[in-house]
Amino acid sequence: MKELKRSKELFQEAQRYLPGGVDSPVRAFKAVGGNPLFIRRGQGSKIYDEDDNEFIDYVCSWGALILGHSHPQVVKALKKVIESGTSFGTPTELETTLAKMICAAIPSIKMIRFVNSGTEATMSAIRLARAFTKRDKILKFSGCYHGHSDGLLTKAGSGLATLGIPASLGVPAFFTNQTLIAPYNNLEGVAQVFDKFGQEIAAIIVEPVAANMGVVPPQPGFLEHLRSLTQKSGVLLIFDEVITGFRLTYGGAQALYEIAPDLTCLGKIIGGGLPIGAYGGRKEIMELIAPLGPVYQAGTLSGNPVAMTAGIKTLKVLSQPESYSQLEKKASQLEKGITEAASKAEINIKLSRVGSLFTIFFTREPVTDYETASQASTELYAKFFHQMLSQGIYLPPSQFEASFVSLAHSDEDIEITVDAVHKAFNIIQKAPRRD
Ligand SMILES: *Cc1c(COP(=O)(O)O)cnc(C)c1O
Repeated sequence: MKELKRSKELFQEAQRYLPGGVDSPVRAFKAVGGNPLFIRRGQGSKIYDEDDNEFIDYVCSWGALILGHSHPQVVKALKKVIESGTSFGTPTELETTLAKMICAAIPSIKMIRFVNSGTEATMSAIRLARAFTKRDKILKFSGCYHGHSDGLLTKAGSGLATLGIPASLGVPAFFTNQTLIAPYNNLEGVAQVFDKFGQEIAAIIVEPVAANMGVVPPQPGFLEHLRSLTQKSGVLLIFDEVITGFRLTYGGAQALYEIAPDLTCLGKIIGGGLPIGAYGGRKEIMELIAPLGPVYQAGTLSGNPVAMTAGIKTLKVLSQPESYSQLEKKASQLEKGITEAASKAEINIKLSRVGSLFTIFFTREPVTDYETASQASTELYAKFFHQMLSQGIYLPPSQFEASFVSLAHSDEDIEITVDAVHKAFNIIQKAPRRD
């Protein structure tokens, strides 16, 4: 890797104008140290920084780019649509096209509303759930991230876990008082909350595969139990599939685990790398949204033709046969290689993987919830991250963010990555350690 010269200069300059030099906290590399890369260009599985370093990218815009960077068909469609105007603030046919594709892929979604981010999707889905049930409280799980709206910013994983912030300042207690918390994968914890507050809870919101405290899969029976419990108590079940939607299968995590939630939140992949979010679900709930019903929610750029086009093209390519078996094959090769490297170097890791989503936790203990995830050594992760970076592999700059394999990752990319992991683990193993 060449010395970071331009990236350093640009980061200095950025910090004069943007808080921390970034527009989203994890990008600043606080958890791993060092200077963030300023990226100039992406192509397929690779990104290129301002100093002309090439990296195999396992972040892929936090999972949005499941086809890899600048996929030729997506780029072609975008060029064409942009020439006809980028936003009209009127209905367009493209919105119905993408809506139909999503409803066909995810049968629990009978109607859908497009917004501009995952944050907006979860925030709006919760407003809707409160309106439908006429109750105020919600239950979320510690370590699950559902965007940065007030009521959801507590024990929220992702950047907060990275920076060690339990909850954001500036959120009135009035809001977080309405948010009940239980540990992920913990039925006992959920039962306790329901015993006390069952009648006041509008919705449970959950990442069906948690991916914002690192990847933590649901244990057998966990999601099933949430489904039956919510059904019994008049509580809505919201699956936040902003990451898992169209990632684990074409029908999302709900197809994989065969559970139909009442509402689903989407984002990331459905926008093919452009700003997007969406929430959808049962018709009688969705019909409460304005202009049909009294729940207000609007957006100047919502459903704009550019994001719709990128989403439509991305889903078209993804819907081809074998997309998901290819993703599984690539990711399982990677898992095998990393696990072998770890046992060879005698490093304790737990590799957590569901399909093309994975995390290498530097820990001996099984990771099943936020508490066990946070036992992982962020110090070792930071060392590993930098060893990989220096060999041209870009991983998420935090122990608590997922890594993403895309369809653009080649067998060669995987081999190069596994070789780099061997070297990185060896170097970490030789370094003096505190644990
Ligand atoms: C990324 C993410 C969000 C927030 O989406 P933004 O587009 O960043 O606002 C919400 N929920 C989950 C599960 C996510 O991974």
